[in-house]
This record gives sequence, C-alpha cells and structure tokens, in this order.
Amino acid sequence: MQPISKSNWIEGKVLEHKNWTDSLASIKIAARVNPYISGQFTRIALEINNEIISRPYSYVSAPSDNFLEIVYVKIPDGKLTPKLSELKSGDNILVNNNAFGYFVMSEIPKGDNLWLLATGTGSGVFISLLKTDAPWNRFKKVILIHGVRNKEELTYLDQIAKFKNKYPQKFHYIKSVTREKIDGCLNTRIPNAIENGIFETTTKIKISKTSQFMICGNPDMIKETINNLKNKGLEINRRSNPGNITIEKYW
Ligand code: NAP
Repeated sequence: MQPISKSNWIEGKVLEHKNWTDSLASIKIAARVNPYISGQFTRIALEINNEIISRPYSYVSAPSDNFLEIVYVKIPDGKLTPKLSELKSGDNILVNNNAFGYFVMSEIPKGDNLWLLATGTGSGVFISLLKTDAPWNRFKKVILIHGVRNKEELTYLDQIAKFKNKYPQKFHYIKSVTREKIDGCLNTRIPNAIENGIFETTTKIKISKTSQFMICGNPDMIKETINNLKNKGLEINRRSNPGNITIEKYW
C-alpha cells in the first residue's frame, strides 16, 4: 500500500479506451511524463477510497508517439483493473512520472536474427520496440511470435501490418491460437514450437547461437521456453555474461 502522495504521479487524461475482449483492453493517455525508452514500463494508478492503487504496465506506445498507451487484462477481483475498466475518454488517470526496466534494445547483444516471443498482453512491449529503428537496423530478420488463447486476443494487427508493409522481407509475424483452430494461425504453445522446430520451418530461419530472443508474458511459458532454448545451446543474457535470451515476466 502506498501513502497518498502525488509527488511521483502525473495526472493524465484518457484519450481512448479500447476493449479487445471482455477481459482485455488498452488505454491511450495524454500525460506529460519524463522521457522513456521503448521496452520500459511505467506504473498506472487511480485514487480509490483515498488510496493510490497502482500496477506496472509496459508502454505499448513509443517515444515518437504523441500519446502513452498500455494494454491490460481485467482481473475481476483485482484492486485496480475493475475501476480502470470504467474509465472513459476525458477521465483522469495517474501515470508515474518515470519509466523503469531494462527490457530495451541497448541491453540486447549483437546477433543475426531477433526473435520476439510473447503471450497475451506481452506483445504490447514489442509493438513499442518495433516502432523504433533499432531492431530493424541491427538485425537481418525480425520475428514476432504471439501466443494467445483465442483469436480475439491477437491485438494490434493493424500496426503489425504496417511493420510488414515497411519491412516485407525482414519481418515475420507468427500467430498461435491455442484454444481454437484458426486458419492462418498455428495451434501450439510457444515452448513446444521451439522444441519441435515449427517456428524454424515456418520462417526458414534457424535458431542458433547467433539468434537473440526477447521473451515476455506468462512466467511458465518463459520458464519452459528458456529450458528448450538452453537445449539448443542458447544462454540467458546477463550484463556480466552476455547471452541470447532476455526476459520480462508479467506476473
Ligand atoms: P495466458 O494463460 O498467459 O495464455 C496466453 C497464451 O499462453 C495461451 O496461448 C496459453 O496457452 C499460453 N500458455 C499458458 N501457460 C503456458 C505455459 N506454461 N507454457 C506455454 N504457454 C503457455 O493468458 P492471458 O490472457 O495473458 O492471462 C491469463 C491470466 O493471467 C488472466 O486470467 C489474468 O488473471 C492473469 N494475469 C495476466 C496478466 C497479463 O498482463 N497478461 C497480468 C496479471 C495476471 P493455453 O491456451 O494452452 O493455456
């Protein structure tokens, strides 16, 4: 619990509130916060019963955007998201003045290909990264893989189509929907697809020690994916010991 102190909080306005499904939504916000780097997260808060209730959210927006954006899952018995989900355009919302975290391109070592693996809302941070030049300038191929339960959770398809238009040869986008069979989508969990080579067959790109992986989303998916990448000879990326696998857990 945080005491009521607005010193770190910037009062913003909701510009747009989009419901992707009954439990998945995103908010665009106008707020004059300190500069951030794509890949970082902030904290979003509301004052509820005289208490500031906040949760961390990665920016989906990039520094070049003239709005801030986050995507969130509504947790029915949660303290913040039931109230967050009631907000409409023009309503007030608190955004932490500062951004945090090291899931940023400058922490990623050199490599040939950049694999971005996400489940659920974890794809949002990659939208932010892909709006910047660094991934495109630094890597020969960029592969975005999004695993969701149901088709409606495949967010930001319009933005992803723009990336594909701009980088038709360099960019691969793979959708995997695990709880229904959908044309044009895989129907597999990410760690299994790493193990059995489906991503390599689909993209014709080999996973090797020159690959870089950024992984974001469900913590169990991250754990199992790391194991399967380690079986292929890849290592966790640490500042003290650079490797191929950089992660961001979402809960
Ligand atoms: P999710 O359960 O993480 O599912 C998203 C995708 O990840 C699905 O394709 C799912 O496959 C797969 N997956 C789940 N566990 C896996 C594992 N161990 N290994 C590999 N793949 C795995 O769904 P979500 O909608 O993002 O979030 C689900 C719940 O997490 C919500 O009900 C919410 O309460 C909680 N939560 C989410 C967030 C968030 O930011 N996303 C934050 C806090 C809490 P299957 O269909 O085969 O399971």
